[in-house]
Amino acid sequence: MREFVIRHGKVISPVNGYHGEEKDILVRDGKIAEIADRIEGGGEVIDAEGCIVTPGFIDIHTHCYPKAFLGLDPDVLGIQRGTTTILDAGSSGADNYEDFRSNYIEKSKTKVFTLLNLSKEGLIRGHELDDMSKIDVEKAKEVIRKYPDNIVGMKARASASVVGEMGLEPIAIAARTAHEVGKPLMVHVGNYPPALTDVLKLLDRNDIITHAYHGKPGGILTEDKKIIEEAQKARERGVKFDVGHGVASFSYRVFEQAMREGFDCDMISTDLHVENYEGPVYNLAAVVSKLLELGESLEDAVTKCTSVPAAHFGLEGLGELAEGKTADFNIMSFEPCSEEVQDSIGDSLTLNNRLVLKKTIYSRGNESEVFEHIVGE
Ligand SMILES: [Zn+2]
Repeated sequence: MREFVIRHGKVISPVNGYHGEEKDILVRDGKIAEIADRIEGGGEVIDAEGCIVTPGFIDIHTHCYPKAFLGLDPDVLGIQRGTTTILDAGSSGADNYEDFRSNYIEKSKTKVFTLLNLSKEGLIRGHELDDMSKIDVEKAKEVIRKYPDNIVGMKARASASVVGEMGLEPIAIAARTAHEVGKPLMVHVGNYPPALTDVLKLLDRNDIITHAYHGKPGGILTEDKKIIEEAQKARERGVKFDVGHGVASFSYRVFEQAMREGFDCDMISTDLHVENYEGPVYNLAAVVSKLLELGESLEDAVTKCTSVPAAHFGLEGLGELAEGKTADFNIMSFEPCSEEVQDSIGDSLTLNNRLVLKKTIYSRGNESEVFEHIVGE
């Protein structure tokens, strides 16, 4: 489609001043041409009556390199799950990034950006940082500098199973390398060692902790359920804290307690991969629904998976609803329900409302397409 109007949607994009007001949105040649109370004409009509319209979602933590451990096709984790832009979190490294780029990134409808793994093999086998021979700092920097259009940061996993006897050293190298090339480093935290307190000390402004609310020992809460001092200090320096739900990395109890302590997340992501995309994670809208039930506001949640990640990673034209921006949208309803949903550690929560994906509109160049979500499947 080259020209169409999304009619009567309740538009939410707080960064652009939209807080649920009913608007029409005119799209022409893949870009937003106008947003107004009423737009006459404009070609094909997409009726969004009774629905909310947000910018296309941006999921900053997925695994969409099918040749790597746990990876799935970008469109399965992106468009088909109501997310127009996804970041691959470290599936590829300096040795296989070009294969990932030419065979998947460039062929998918979903916009894919990359957080390059410090390990040159990426996540091909797991335990990717347990040996210095898997790290080639110069080559990583070379690849990052060669593809600034697509590589928007770095990734390293700080778990005992990943770093083995190397401990904190690979994470220190990753932080140094990312800071040298001026990109954010996303660090996965899980089972220690290395300890989260030590990892946090390495991070600086714009770096990201993903799986920030995991329920394993050694997380962001002290024994008396306060936020650890290192996390408070890291946040003051500009380090960001991301949900990264995943199969073993999100605990309702930890998140609720962190909210009580004033330590809400900065960004919301799924960690979608082959072991969780059919549950308990499903998609970003499902993760957002859980956070809404736990006290996050709808406006904040939308911001944290649209304009915040777009600004953080410099994703031009994405994550906002304004004239000239890329015509990526989610059309969803927010419906009452009574549904039991699980976190990653087996706790359950009753959702009283949930976001239901209706249509995802995505644009490339001057063409736009609509993906219809089949509700109930
Ligand atoms: Zn992950």
